[in-house]
Parts: sequence; structure tokens; C-alpha cells
Amino acid sequence: MGTSNHTRLIVTKGDITEQEVDAIVNAANSSLLGGGGVDGAIHRKGGKAVLEECRRLRAGHLGGGLPVGHAVATTAGALPARWVIHTVGPVYSTTEDRGARLASCYTESLRLAYDLGASSVAFPAISTGVYRWPLDDAARIAAEAIHTAEARVPEIRLVLFDDTALAAFQRVFDPS
Ligand code: ADP
Repeated sequence: MGTSNHTRLIVTKGDITEQEVDAIVNAANSSLLGGGGVDGAIHRKGGKAVLEECRRLRAGHLGGGLPVGHAVATTAGALPARWVIHTVGPVYSTTEDRGARLASCYTESLRLAYDLGASSVAFPAISTGVYRWPLDDAARIAAEAIHTAEARVPEIRLVLFDDTALAAFQRVFDPS
């Protein structure tokens, strides 16, 4: 059973930090201690509660950092969401197929969102910034992962930061 019968799928342009959803997904790095792009914006607007919880996770069972393709949740601090789900996308490689790890970011985040009881979750275009994943391919992988996930989350938003990313995701998610 895929998500299609249960899930409202929205592809939109926007800033992930402004989404009024239960959970927003962070394109984090393994350290969980902050970075640029989405990660920087989430920590800036979420405030120190987010970083403190990340530090506690690093001091506990994530001492070695969060592995690529895995997901973990923290408070969303001052953000409108209730939770931030941190996931680590793979750096794009031209010599190695890391698509399964990128797909895993989506499926693991959705599984966690469901376990938390989230009824809405917003994703950025994971790995398409500093990690250089080509947008069309990243969008295809995201769509396949979301459609095959047994997510049972009622609303999933893909939040793209600019027109180029929006167009790439619309081509895959809303072909017309
Ligand atoms: P990664 O390291 O996984 O590539 P980045 O944060 O560098 O993560 O970029 C991922 C995508 O998120 C890029 O397409 C970037 O344009 C976009 N992005 C950057 N800031 C935001 C934001 N505030 N909201 C939504 N998307 C964003």
C-alpha cells in the first residue's frame, strides 16, 4: 500500500522554516550541529532549543553522528512546526549510485513522522544544495520514495526554495 490513497501531496515554492505543519525535515549533516542552507535557516529560526537537543543526541546514542539516510527528531523550538526531523542526505557522486540512500532520507523521515503522530510533514529538496544532487534526479528519487513509502501521513509538502527547483519537482510530481 503506497501513500497515494491516504496522502495529500503538495509541491510548493517557499521557505521550509515558515511551514505550519507538524514536522519539517532538515537536510542536516551527520554532526547534527548545524551547517548552511536549510540547516542554517532551521537552527537560526528554531533557536537554541534545537541545537541543545541535537547536542544531547550527540552526547547519547548518536555519539558517532547521524548516518546518511537515517532520521531523528527534535523539538522545533521557536519554529511554527512541532518537530524537526533531521536527516542526512548523501553527497552526490558521479561514480557511485547513492540513490537508495537519498530515497531512505524520505522513507525514514516519513516513518518517523508517522511514529510521532504527525499529520503533516514538509520536506526540502534534500541533497540538492551543497551536496550537489541534480534537481531532476533528486525529484525523481523523492517521488518514488514517497509513493512507495507506507507513510500514512495525511499531508506531505515538498517545499522548494526557487523556481528552478519548483519546476523540477513539478515535472515529476504533477506531470501535465
Ligand atoms: P544539502 O546539504 O542536503 O544539499 P542544502 O541546505 O545545501 O542541503 O540545500 C538543499 C536544498 O534546500 C537546496 O535546493 C536549497 O536551495 C534549498 N533551501 C535552502 N534554504 C531553504 C529554505 N529556507 N527552505 C527551503 N529550501 C531551502
